[in-house]
Amino acid sequence: MSTTPHNIFQRSAAPVTIDEDKCIADKGCTVCVDVCPLDLLAIDLSKGKAYMKFDECWYCMPCEKDCPTDAVRVDIPYLLR
Ligand code: SF4
Ligand code: SF4
Repeated sequence: MSTTPHNIFQRSAAPVTIDEDKCIADKGCTVCVDVCPLDLLAIDLSKGKAYMKFDECWYCMPCEKDCPTDAVRVDIPYLLR
């Protein structure tokens, strides 16, 4: 019997959130989408803002580090810190 990591963490919100006031995807930025090795992030074309499309984050952090406007926030689960 084993417990997968997904069952350990109880989360109420997506681990990666985008500050839509800061995101400049509407100006053509796709940095966070491009750097995510798992392709979890996407641009919502109707809003012109990035968002987390798939909730399978590895917490590798380039999306937060490379965003030119500091719009990306990755919430690392307490147990992984
Ligand atoms: S890298 Fe930052 S500014 Fe660019 S699309 Fe992602 S959240 Fe928006
Ligand atoms: S922390 Fe890594 S896996 Fe998670 S969304 Fe950012 S780039 Fe993708």
